[in-house]
Amino acid sequence: MSTAIVTHKDCILHDTGIHHPESQERLLSVFKTLKNFKSKKIQWIDGPNINLKHINLVHSEHHIKNIINNVPTKGFFNIDADTVLSPNSIKSAFKAMGSVCKAVDLICTEKFKNAFCPIRPPGHHAEPEKAMGFCLFNNVAIGAYYAKLKYKLKKCAVIDFDVHHGNGTQKKFWDDPNMFYASTHQEGIFPGTGFKNEIGVNNNIINVPLPGGTNGLLFKKSYEDIIIPNLKKFSPDMIFISAGFDGHKDDPLADFKLTEEDFFWVTNKLRNFSDKYCKKRLVSCLEGGYNIDALSKSSLAHVKGLIL
Ligand SMILES: [Zn+2]
Repeated sequence: MSTAIVTHKDCILHDTGIHHPESQERLLSVFKTLKNFKSKKIQWIDGPNINLKHINLVHSEHHIKNIINNVPTKGFFNIDADTVLSPNSIKSAFKAMGSVCKAVDLICTEKFKNAFCPIRPPGHHAEPEKAMGFCLFNNVAIGAYYAKLKYKLKKCAVIDFDVHHGNGTQKKFWDDPNMFYASTHQEGIFPGTGFKNEIGVNNNIINVPLPGGTNGLLFKKSYEDIIIPNLKKFSPDMIFISAGFDGHKDDPLADFKLTEEDFFWVTNKLRNFSDKYCKKRLVSCLEGGYNIDALSKSSLAHVKGLIL
């Protein structure tokens, strides 16, 4: 079997209120589009709740308690201007993190070649001590540390093509020479990090900030010339993708000019890398993407890039 789609319908429950871009409709639409895509090469798998101790691989006790204790019984609790808790937020977040860990299990026991986790809330802005930017817990970083712990992998890499810089993942990986984080993102927008000179403790962080208006050509060149060669140098045992589709030309939150074909291209590139150098160990996690139509079409292009 080629590709597992690991998620849980509870990930839809996290409610951010009306007019919030990180809406329940996002995942409803992705599920619908992916379910309509009939392929013998994909299989849907339900993600379980995460084991609490695995959240601790990335987040402090204080952060975990702070989130859990602030969940309201009704209405909303605003962590900051963008980041909201509603009564079912923990249910969604625990299934999101559990799905990523389940995907790691499926890949590391060679039941599948790779996996996509269409989950929410997203994760790459969540820092060890702080929820921010729609993110409560860092799903992808937890998956990477879980893979190291459970399957004794030495080195893991996260490649992040969301249009925003994954400050949370970078912060967690910064001091750990066995973790690699590489990001393409639009310069000068939220969260304001991801400069070229942010390189981590051992050149294990690669930031490629790109100008507004960036199209497929420049995006692809960044992977060909910078990210893939550095990834090769790092030589990971497994790769993770922070798959944000808000670099799409129709996305309302940023100004890249990417298309579904560009997301297919980068997925294919990373899948090829994992096939060749990482024993086909690849897990991808959904991050951003706020034009519903562009998000679902891009997610489908992503899955098509994984199953090839
Ligand atoms: Zn984003």
